[in-house]
Amino acid sequence: MYHKQKTIRSVLLAAVLALSLLLGGCGVDDVSPTTQSASPTVQTTLPETYQPDTQPETTVPTLPQGSELQVRFLDVGQADAALISCDGHHMLIDGGNRGDSNLIYSVLQREEISYLDMVVATHAHEDHIGGLPGAFQYASAGLTLCPVTAYDSDVFETFAAKAQERGGGLTVPQPGDTYPLGSATVTILGVNGAEDTNNTSIVLRIDYGETAFLFTGDAEREAEQVILDSGLPLGATVLKVGHHGSDTSTTYPFLREIMPQYAVISVGTGNSYGHPCEDTLSRLRDADVKVFRTDMQGDIVFTSDGKTVTAQTQRNQNADTLGPVTPTEPPETQPEEETQAPSQEEIRVLAWPETVGQNETATVTIQGLPNTLYSITVHYKSGPSSAQGLEDKTSDNSGQVSWSWKVGGRTSPGTFNITVSGGGETLTLPFTVTE
Ligand SMILES: [Zn+2]
Repeated sequence: MYHKQKTIRSVLLAAVLALSLLLGGCGVDDVSPTTQSASPTVQTTLPETYQPDTQPETTVPTLPQGSELQVRFLDVGQADAALISCDGHHMLIDGGNRGDSNLIYSVLQREEISYLDMVVATHAHEDHIGGLPGAFQYASAGLTLCPVTAYDSDVFETFAAKAQERGGGLTVPQPGDTYPLGSATVTILGVNGAEDTNNTSIVLRIDYGETAFLFTGDAEREAEQVILDSGLPLGATVLKVGHHGSDTSTTYPFLREIMPQYAVISVGTGNSYGHPCEDTLSRLRDADVKVFRTDMQGDIVFTSDGKTVTAQTQRNQNADTLGPVTPTEPPETQPEEETQAPSQEEIRVLAWPETVGQNETATVTIQGLPNTLYSITVHYKSGPSSAQGLEDKTSDNSGQVSWSWKVGGRTSPGTFNITVSGGGETLTLPFTVTE
């Protein structure tokens, strides 16, 4: 059914494409005419590196009873992070900025995911790898994929060191490589498509039954073209739009091969890049794709039963995601939708002292339930701290609570735990006292 639908959609989009070429209304930033072909690309011979040891696209594997694929796009502002789970197997693609380390840590902790089959760092930019150390702080990983093994930045060095320690070191994959994730299959479609760091992005597809999810990192048109030229099949139900909706990605030929029903733009409110770009939104609109945006809707969670994909947003399920771009004002939240906000009880860490020196002040800020009593315990070698500032507190209307205390000059250095409890939940954070 999916393939039939895809054929109809192909014809429609080809028509739209032809029309837009005639009208020439897509701006100079679009694909250069030399690389663009209005006739549908026919599946050609696969490159030698491609090992079709998994099922060809036409065979649909039978899924075990009770199997399900969940793809969770985390709202990490102007950055990317997605957690994928299938049959008790887990995979993390990117981890947001450095400041998102705590968020990634607490998501894995809440889901009790202490082992990730795979961590994928799509490319070396901070907004993709910055928060991955938080993942390695809570979980170990069987495999860590990255397009490079060295990159000149502190953020990369921290990430690479953690991956070495807890993630089996860095592995550079090749197009055509496949990895199992429960009943799902991960296929690498592109990596190091061009020299520019965005274009080194690992592009991969996760196939599950008749449904598929395509992840593009920040790949731009040059890398998209390399993937198109490779002839690997690109069809997917859900597309993670490349480079936060920049107009340098998501070209018409690439979009036409993917033919997604849904797309996700991971983007921060009021970002200085003007993402997502109107041109990109326009191309998605032309392709009749239903678009979700993390800036308007928070976390976006897709569930697939192998035939159908459903989407659930944290807020504003029906937001006008393709409407006029209003980059500087936060989207208005309807009061009635506010009450639908995450129903599950949870504690999220907003600030946390990973490392504190003796005589320094440490601060923990959490996001929990509104107007709820929370307690904090700071464990040292000598036992729980009785420092001032660590008394029980009631969260404010937005659910935030903050504690600040001074670490004594005679506190033994070492790595200890901080426990925060309240609203039926408990969160444990590691922290290190240095001399
Ligand atoms: Zn990025």
